[in-house]
Amino acid sequence: MSVTTKDLGSQLAEIKGAEVIKSFCYTCPWQCPTEVFVRDGRIVYQKGNPESPNNIGSRCAKGMASWYVSQDPDRLTTPLLRTNPKGERGEFKQISWDEAFQFIANKLKLIADKWGPEAVALTCHHDPNTVFYHHLLKDLYGSPNMYAHTSGCEQDRRSACLTLFGHVFPMHDFANSKFVMLWGMNMLGANQGLWESRALIEAQAKGCRLVVVDPNFTETAQKADEWVPIRPGTDGAMALAMCRVIIDEKLYDEAFVNQYCEGFNGFRDHLHDKGYTPEWAEEICGIEAATITRLAREFATTKPAMSAIFKGSGYYTNGHDAGRACYILDAICGEVDKPGNIHLKDWAPLGAPVEIPADAMRQPEKDPLHIAMGYALAPDLPNSRLPDAVINGDPYPVKGLFVHATNPVMSDPNRDRVMEMFKHLELAVACELYLSETALECDIVLPETSFHEQAEIRQGMWLGPEVVLCQPVVDRVGDSKPPYEIVKGIAEKMGWGEHFPYEKWEDWGEVMMKDVPMSVDELKEKGFWADEVKYNRVPGGLPTPSGKVEIYSTDYVNAGFNAYPEFTERSVIPDEEFPLQITHSKFSMHCNIVTQNNPYLMEICGENWVEINSVDAAKYGIQDDTYVTVESPKDKIRILAKVVEGLVPGCVSIRHGHGFGHWAMGSVAKGKGAHSNNLMDTHTNPVTGANCYNECKVRVRPAN
Ligand code: SF4
Repeated sequence: MSVTTKDLGSQLAEIKGAEVIKSFCYTCPWQCPTEVFVRDGRIVYQKGNPESPNNIGSRCAKGMASWYVSQDPDRLTTPLLRTNPKGERGEFKQISWDEAFQFIANKLKLIADKWGPEAVALTCHHDPNTVFYHHLLKDLYGSPNMYAHTSGCEQDRRSACLTLFGHVFPMHDFANSKFVMLWGMNMLGANQGLWESRALIEAQAKGCRLVVVDPNFTETAQKADEWVPIRPGTDGAMALAMCRVIIDEKLYDEAFVNQYCEGFNGFRDHLHDKGYTPEWAEEICGIEAATITRLAREFATTKPAMSAIFKGSGYYTNGHDAGRACYILDAICGEVDKPGNIHLKDWAPLGAPVEIPADAMRQPEKDPLHIAMGYALAPDLPNSRLPDAVINGDPYPVKGLFVHATNPVMSDPNRDRVMEMFKHLELAVACELYLSETALECDIVLPETSFHEQAEIRQGMWLGPEVVLCQPVVDRVGDSKPPYEIVKGIAEKMGWGEHFPYEKWEDWGEVMMKDVPMSVDELKEKGFWADEVKYNRVPGGLPTPSGKVEIYSTDYVNAGFNAYPEFTERSVIPDEEFPLQITHSKFSMHCNIVTQNNPYLMEICGENWVEINSVDAAKYGIQDDTYVTVESPKDKIRILAKVVEGLVPGCVSIRHGHGFGHWAMGSVAKGKGAHSNNLMDTHTNPVTGANCYNECKVRVRPAN
């Protein structure tokens, strides 16, 4: 045999006669380009696409185990129609696709006639091909309410980035950085992009200093040069105090702030007026003033540097200004969009899959829900307010809901209220792989194909412009359908079939790719298209009201909020009765609520737990590796406890992501772990509309 540079797995698979298909993984939203090896209609091996700048050949355990979803016997196989009243555990009968399309079309017409098209909303999490639903429900039907999952995710980060830079999606150029400061961002433990994790580790090997500010000694904190164990919900105070040091000691980038920042002088005065000093922050954050001062100096004098956030500094009612303060550190040091900084993601010239003529488009007559609810700055729907619209008609009635690839009964706080919401809907459609907890509350359940069984062309999640392709690699499970066929079927019943003229996915693929310098055939061969990374775009003007980095936020002022970030206490403070603060972290072996029915991943990590500091454990009689009751004013759960040293005393950290399938379909997931979301009451960030998962106080005791 000739010498080859291919890895052993690839060689073995090819020797055994597998066909290699370029695709991408969609187990988590980072959609790593992959090579899928298929033999006899089954996936026999998968690896990262080695040519892709996105993941450079790598895949994580979740991606490697993802083949199982294409063979999972728990998958839905036919459309289902509810046969019993809402509020009871869902019972269903099988129906044909034709019946399902007709049922939905009839209900859509009824709702539009009675309440108007804005009374139908769509929400999704993993958003495979959601754009097709948008063409149907927004462009043709006329609803402005097409939403995703961000209020349960990184809403505060997106809002902060939009406010300051006019850009909704910051990425991280770790590879070129010399100083990285991560605020509540567990890059190496949560489901973050593989290439970013690799770049961070490689940067560290080249001397980049990593500082992690987090109440929890996370996987990333364990690899850091310095862990700053901050009290939960106080990141904003520390970041503002660091800004004060940098400005008072004239360590900021004067040329950059003079030319490219709006409101620098006012911000300097604001920090003084409010008394935001390291000594002030020490009392709030539990971090010594000397440490805050030292980190401020290090951050400002080491270049290139990056101050980055994801979810951890959010999840509180003060998360919006915490995010702004963390990004202002970047702005005043001139560390924006240059090599080694936060990067304003550049998009590929990817078009829509269908072209709806202007005269067929229906313009919404009402504001989208988030505006009507008073969240003008929210980048997405405040999910926790949706029950108000459905149950009370506030701000206007919502009577129809499409739930696409998401499970809000289990992913939103205050499960009781979310379940109540479903009782009040005229039409609840679940587009799902499984008969999930949410699907059980719906009127009709549509079995979707998994990413291994359908096509998708998407923006890649790399720094530069990138298009990634997912191809069907195996047969569909049962009678499941991809979104582009489901939408076409409903559209035909509505009389709009002409707008979805494709026969096969390549037809709409060509339409999407018409401005990308690569054909669909070439994309199928290569798996992705990428262009070079562009840097330093701030001088060219930003899409903010002033065209500059808005330290003074015109948007905030126009919406009636504070121009500069302030520190306010979070809403829920532990007390004598419930003395512990909840925080959350994830498992690297699972993606949110997606992977708990995968036996291979469950073999590695089959149960979640709550972490408690040894000081608190001793106080409340908790032994390591025993079951405890975690109780909030609202609900209680039984969960395994781990006694740790690496957690700020006074809080517990619940590893989130299990406790699914307990009453829904999911034979592997069923009965494993505990789900914590019903411990929380509804707390919505007043500016961004984000779910505040950490606004919750609890007590812990040994379980009976
Ligand atoms: S990081 Fe996400 S997209 Fe990439 S292989 Fe892992 S699960 Fe799949």
